[in-house]
Amino acid sequence: MAETEKEPVKLQKEGIPEGLWMRCPDCGDMLFRKVVEEALHVCPGCQHHFRVSARVRIAQLVDEGSFEERHADLEPVDALKFVDKKSYQDRLESEQEKTGNPDAAVCGKGFIKGRPLILAVMDPTFMMGSMGSVVGEKITRAIEDAVEERLPLLIVSCSGGARMQESALSLMQMAKTSAALARLDDAGGLFVSLLADPTTGGVTASFAMLGDFILAEPKALIGFAGPRTIWNTIKVELPEGFQRSEFLEEHGFVDFVVHRRDLRSEIARLIDFCGKE
Ligand SMILES: [Zn+2]
Repeated sequence: MAETEKEPVKLQKEGIPEGLWMRCPDCGDMLFRKVVEEALHVCPGCQHHFRVSARVRIAQLVDEGSFEERHADLEPVDALKFVDKKSYQDRLESEQEKTGNPDAAVCGKGFIKGRPLILAVMDPTFMMGSMGSVVGEKITRAIEDAVEERLPLLIVSCSGGARMQESALSLMQMAKTSAALARLDDAGGLFVSLLADPTTGGVTASFAMLGDFILAEPKALIGFAGPRTIWNTIKVELPEGFQRSEFLEEHGFVDFVVHRRDLRSEIARLIDFCGKE
């Protein structure tokens, strides 16, 4: 699991409430938080795309009030009694309290510009969007819903990869989600995969790269292992930006790099293009 989270620096000055201003980690500008939020969490200056939680992402993508959450009752368990710096059970509890969500994915049905679809969205605010059994199961159920209801499927990936605290149980989700996608493909379904910053590890190595269309947000980190791991393994200097959306688009791994403000119209266009409704 890659620990690549970069939190915006908060200005802590007397008289200015914490969090009213934020610094863009890319251009360094001080930004009024409200302005950034209104721009779909994109820096108005340099267009840096901030990471957003699953619920914010869903609100940005679907027609207002159209989201119907499903499979919300799935709760993670600490089957392996895993302990690193703290126990997995304690970690889960503090993440649940922090985010108000049981785990790192939210799924359901919604509409984008009037077109119905099933969507599953990963949440980078919950254990860096890592994929454990619950995330894998929710994504699988979303895929199965899309098959049964003959609806297009959108999965938004934003993840550090498989969740080490669930070890092999987490790795099994790669096979499970991929097998479910094969059934969606057999049924003639449409799968649009959107890669947000970051999409790495076991998520990249399974469903994220199996889209009929693979979209990515600008400058998103997309890869399997991190640059340092690759360097330590093969000792070869890799080209500048080789794990960013634009490089991957150029080399055919990603179909389109899409600015966040254009995602709704781009997804609607792809649904229409494939004649799925
Ligand atoms: Zn900026």
